[in-house]
Amino acid sequence: MIFAAGIRPNVALARDAGLSVNRGIVVDDRLQTGAAEIFALGECAEHRGICYGLVEPAYEQARVAGAASGGGEAMYRGSVVATNLKVSGVSVFSAGDFIAADGAETIVLNDFRRGTYKKLVIANGRLTGAVLIGETQDALWYLDLIRTRAPIARIRSDMMFGRSLAIRSEAA
Ligand SMILES: Cc1cc2nc3c(=O)[nH]c(=O)nc-3n(C[C@H](O)[C@H](O)[C@H](O)COP(=O)(O)OP(=O)(O)OC[C@H]3O[C@@H](n4cnc5c(N)ncnc54)[C@H](O)[C@@H]3O)c2cc1C
Repeated sequence: MIFAAGIRPNVALARDAGLSVNRGIVVDDRLQTGAAEIFALGECAEHRGICYGLVEPAYEQARVAGAASGGGEAMYRGSVVATNLKVSGVSVFSAGDFIAADGAETIVLNDFRRGTYKKLVIANGRLTGAVLIGETQDALWYLDLIRTRAPIARIRSDMMFGRSLAIRSEAA
């Protein structure tokens, strides 16, 4: 069995070229390096201290870098990263601030007998992170709430029990 974790950006070319490099090539919210007309994105780029190791953030960065390099006003504010996979046959999903940063509230539902665990992280009246184990059918709904930063006051009490119940109570 082979186990590997994490990424290590290849920054040698950028460092030799005199660009600012930490873990990755440092870029601003336009995906621009310290040098005029040089942009970086994807696994080699470090934005607000984060080097992303997935495809989707690179797509989001590419849209901004493309617009910004053409003189547009596009800004990249960082990506909400989500993981959806099976571990030993058990569905697992996590997204956003799943640990719960200082000041965030958590709602946890742990049903050992059914083999399900859910944790929702809330900050400033919005869902900011989620962990689902066992039952993940509402994963994309939670991800959408996190990404759109939708206010959750009206669905807060039912949100843990899934999209259909929460939407019914929101409409009532
Ligand atoms: C085994 C594995 C499984 C993965 N599974 C997933 C997954 O399921 N979902 C997901 O979202 N992500 C996954 N990833 C991560 C994903 O592949 C990367 O996040 C993505 O490919 C990064 O894209 P990139 O364009 O930034 O870099 P890359 O895809 O690495 O492309 C960089 C390119 O630059 C070239 N290059 C490097 N140095 C030079 C140079 N000096 N001159 C010219 N060319 C150069 C390289 O040859 C390469 O073609 C996986 C990665 C691995 C390794």
